[in-house]
Amino acid sequence: MKMVFLGPPGAGKGTQAVRVSERYGIPQISTGAMLREAMAAGTELGKAAKSIVDAGGLVPDDIVIGIVRERLARPDCKRGFILDGFPRTVPQAEALGGFASLDLAVNITSGEDVIVERIAGRRMCRKCGDALHVKTLKGAAQCPRCGGEIYQRTDDNEETVRNRLKVYNEQTKPLIDFYSRKGILVNIDGDREIDGIFKDVVAVIEAKGR
Ligand code: ADP
Repeated sequence: MKMVFLGPPGAGKGTQAVRVSERYGIPQISTGAMLREAMAAGTELGKAAKSIVDAGGLVPDDIVIGIVRERLARPDCKRGFILDGFPRTVPQAEALGGFASLDLAVNITSGEDVIVERIAGRRMCRKCGDALHVKTLKGAAQCPRCGGEIYQRTDDNEETVRNRLKVYNEQTKPLIDFYSRKGILVNIDGDREIDGIFKDVVAVIEAKGR
C-alpha cells in the first residue's frame, strides 16, 4: 500500500501513520519528523529549516521534495509506505507523482477548535514518534507505549498553530481536490477516538486490497 495522509495539523495523521506502519510493516515517512531530526542534529538542513518550522511556515518545496525522493528510493519502500505531512503543496504533489504512484490518499478531517486544543496539549515521544496529550499522560515523563522520553515540539504553541492552520488552508487544502480528481481520496472523521479512526483507516486499506 502506497498512501498519503492529508489533513490539518493536529488532525491525527501522525498518530494513525504510526499505527498503520506497525500493522502493515511498511515505513512511515514524516517530513516533519525528518526536519526535526535535522534540527536536533544541527545539520545544514536543520539550521535552514529551524526558523521556518518554528514560525509555522513551509520549508521550500525543492528541499522537501529532494528529501522524500531520496527516502522513497530506499528498498524498505518497495512494498509500500505511508507519507505523513508530505505533500503539503500542489507543486509537491505534482513532483511526487513523477516518482511514485499512490494507491490511496486518506484525508483526516477535524474542526479548528479541536485542533488548537490538541496541539497546545500535545507531547511527543522521542523514541517511537507517537503523539500524546497531557490529559492522558497525567504528568508521566515516559511514553506509555515504549518508555521513550517525552518532549514538546517548539512549534506546538497556540500562536504558531494559528499560522500553521492558515498555511494549511491556503496551501495544503487544495490537495483534497487534487487527489479527489485522481479518484484515490477517502475522507475520515478525525474528531473521534484514536481506535475508532484507526478501524476506519484499516477498513479503507483492506478495501483497496492493501
Ligand atoms: P503537523 O502535521 O503537526 O503540522 P509536521 O510534523 O508534519 O506537523 O510538520 C511540522 C513542520 O515541518 C511544518 O509546520 C513545516 O514547517 C515543516 N514541514 C513538514 N513537512 C513539510 C512539507 N512537506 N513541506 C514544507 N514544510 C514541511
